[in-house]
Amino acid sequence: MKFLEDSIKVSTKSTFEIVDITGQVETWIETNKLKNGILLAYTPHTTAALALNENEKGLKEDIISFLKELTKPEGNWKHNLIDVNAHAHLANIIVGNDRIIPIVKGRPALGTWQRILLIELDGPRERTVKLIYIGE
Ligand code: ZN
Repeated sequence: MKFLEDSIKVSTKSTFEIVDITGQVETWIETNKLKNGILLAYTPHTTAALALNENEKGLKEDIISFLKELTKPEGNWKHNLIDVNAHAHLANIIVGNDRIIPIVKGRPALGTWQRILLIELDGPRERTVKLIYIGE
C-alpha cells in the first residue's frame, strides 16, 4: 500500500480563468510510478475550485458566465465591505474544492471529455492543488 501527499502549483493570469491541470497531474502520476488507486485532488483555497469537465473554449466561457450569473460579482454582499470577492467564495461553495479520481494502470480513469480543471475565481494568484494518493 502506497500513501503519497504532494502538491502542484498553478499560476493564474486573470480574475476568472479555467486552467486545465490534467497534464500536470498525469506527469505527477508518472513521476511517482503510481499504478492503481484513488487520487484526491484538493485545492486549499476559498476563492478557487476544482471540477472535472470538458476543456472547450466556449464551454469554459459559459462556465464563468454561469458562475457570475449565480454569484453576482457586483452584488451587494456583506463580505465585500472587507474583501471585494464575495462572489468568489460563493462560487467556491457551489463548485467545491476537491475531486476524487480513480487511477487505473498508471492513468487517471477519466471519461473521454473529462479534464481536471482548476477554476480561478479571484485571480491572478499562485494556487496550490494538493494531491493525495492511496493505492499501489
Ligand atoms: Zn474574501
